[in-house]
Amino acid sequence: MTGLLWKDEHVGGFGMAMGGRGRVLRPTTEEQIADAFAEVRRTGGSIALRGTGNSYGDAAVSTNGHVLDLSRMNRIHSFDPETGVASVEPGVTVRDLWRCSIAHGFWPKVVSGTMAVSMGGAAAMNIHGKNNFAVGSFGECVKSFDFMLPSGDVVHCTRESDPQLFHAAISGFGMLGCFTRLEIQTKRVHSGRLRVWGIVAKDLEHNLQILEDMRGQADYLVSWLDLHAKGKDLGRGLMHRADQLAAGEDPDGLRFFDPSLQDVPPNLFGVVPKGWLWPGMWCAVHMKQVGLVNWLKFRAGAGEERNSPYLQTHGAFHFLLDYVPRWHWMTKPGGLIQFQPFVPFQHGARVLRQIVERCHGAGHVPYLGVLKRHRPDPFLMTHGLDGYSLAMDFAVSSRRSKRDALWRLCHELADLVLDAGGRFYYAKDAVLLASSFARVHGDAAVATFRSLKERFDPGNLLQTDLSRRLGVVAG
Ligand SMILES: Cc1cc2nc3c(=O)[nH]c(=O)nc-3n(C[C@H](O)[C@H](O)[C@H](O)COP(=O)(O)OP(=O)(O)OC[C@H]3O[C@@H](n4cnc5c(N)ncnc54)[C@H](O)[C@@H]3O)c2cc1C
Repeated sequence: MTGLLWKDEHVGGFGMAMGGRGRVLRPTTEEQIADAFAEVRRTGGSIALRGTGNSYGDAAVSTNGHVLDLSRMNRIHSFDPETGVASVEPGVTVRDLWRCSIAHGFWPKVVSGTMAVSMGGAAAMNIHGKNNFAVGSFGECVKSFDFMLPSGDVVHCTRESDPQLFHAAISGFGMLGCFTRLEIQTKRVHSGRLRVWGIVAKDLEHNLQILEDMRGQADYLVSWLDLHAKGKDLGRGLMHRADQLAAGEDPDGLRFFDPSLQDVPPNLFGVVPKGWLWPGMWCAVHMKQVGLVNWLKFRAGAGEERNSPYLQTHGAFHFLLDYVPRWHWMTKPGGLIQFQPFVPFQHGARVLRQIVERCHGAGHVPYLGVLKRHRPDPFLMTHGLDGYSLAMDFAVSSRRSKRDALWRLCHELADLVLDAGGRFYYAKDAVLLASSFARVHGDAAVATFRSLKERFDPGNLLQTDLSRRLGVVAG
C-alpha cells in the first residue's frame, strides 16, 4: 500500500448551509479505494463517499471524518452504439454520459436538473428525472455494478445475481459500499431535440390536474410554481411538457446529435457571461424582490404558452439550472436548503396547499418551487411513491434565530407529510430528525436496511453527517 495523501479541507453540500472540515482523498483507481478503506479500518474513524457533491445538504459530508471524493474516477470504459449500454466509473457525470451517448443517437433515460451529478451519486441516491411518472428512477436503468464492500471485497451485482443487495445499494445513500463501476442503459432518440409546451396553470389544483391529464401521453412533465402567490392564485405556475420526436419528425434533428449544439451557451444574448448573473440574483434575494421576480416569470408564461409547441435541445430542456453558473451563490452567506416532500396522490392537493400556506404564515416563502409527478420503484430506501413532490428552495439566514425558525417550520411541514404517508429524499434533505427515519420508509424496510448495514459494514466504516443525523449509525 502506498502512502495516501488525505488533505484537510472544508467539505460542504451544494446548498452551502451544511458542511465541515474533513480529510479528503481523491482516488483514481479501485486499488486506492481499497487502500483507503484498509487504512481507515486500521486507524479507526469513518469514511464518507462523495461523488461531485451535488446533494443539497449533508449526504456527502462528514465533519471531522475522512471523505473519499470519487470525481476523478471518471473514465467511460465503453459505450455500445448498438445497444446504448455504457460501462462507466463512478465519477463519470451525467454530462460525460450524454456527451458520449448523443453522438450515437442515445440519451440517458433518467437525468437530474443539473448535469454535474456523478453516476455513483445518482445510483446511491436513486435520482429521478422529469419523467419519473413514466420510466421510474435511475436505478431502473442500471444493468449491473461492481461494488466494493467496506471489507475491501468487490462484488459484481445484477438484479438477478443478488436482488437484495442490488435494490439496497441503489438508494442506500453510500452506507453499504462503494460503486466502482456501473453498467447503464441509455435510450434511443431520433432527434437531438424535444417538442416542448409551456402551459400556464392558474393554481395548485390546476397544476395537479394537468399532471393527471397528461401523464399518460407526455414523456416529461415538470411545473415551476410561483410560491409567493396566495389565496385563489396559490400554487399557480408554468407547466412544461416535453415529448420525444419520432424518426423523421424533425428534419434538422440529427444535426443536434452534435454535443456542442446541446451544450448550454456560456453567454446571455451571446454577450453577457452567465457567470456574472448571480450577483444580480443575489440582490433580488437580499433586497426582498423574489416575489416580484416570480410574478414577472409567471406573467412571461402566457407568451411562452402562445408560442408553444417549440423545439428545444435535450440539454436545454433538462439542465435549465445549469444555464446560470453558480446561481446558488445568490443565497450567500447563509446558503440554501431544499425541502422536497413526496406526498401520496390522494393527499396531494390538501397537503401541498397546507404546506404553502404554512410557509406564508411563518414568513418563510421559498424562492423556487418545482412540482413533479412520481411513481413507486423497487428500491429499499426509495423516496418514490404514487404521488407528487414539491421541491422548495429556502434561502437560509446567517442569523441563528432565523435559521432555527426555518428548521422548526420544516419539522412541522415534515410531520404533515409523514402523517399523510409521505416520504423524503435524502439528496435534498437538511432537516429530518432520527425519529422520522422509520416513518419515511416503514419499520420493515428500516429493519432490513439496518441488518444489511450490520452484515456488510459491522464497524460502521461508512458514515456521513446525514447518516448520523438520521440515526443510521450512532452519532
Ligand atoms: C441544481 C441541482 C438539481 C438537482 N436536480 C435533481 C433532480 O432533478 N432529480 C434528482 O433526483 N436529484 C436532483 N438533484 C440532486 C442530485 O441528483 C443528487 O444529490 C445526486 O446524488 C448528486 O450526485 P453527486 O455525484 O453529486 O453525489 P454526492 O452528493 O457527492 O453524494 C450523494 C450520495 O451518494 C453517495 N455516493 C457518492 N458516490 C458514491 C459511490 N461511488 N458509491 C456509493 N455511494 C456513493 C454519497 O455518500 C452520498 O450519500 C439536484 C441537485 C442539484 C444541485
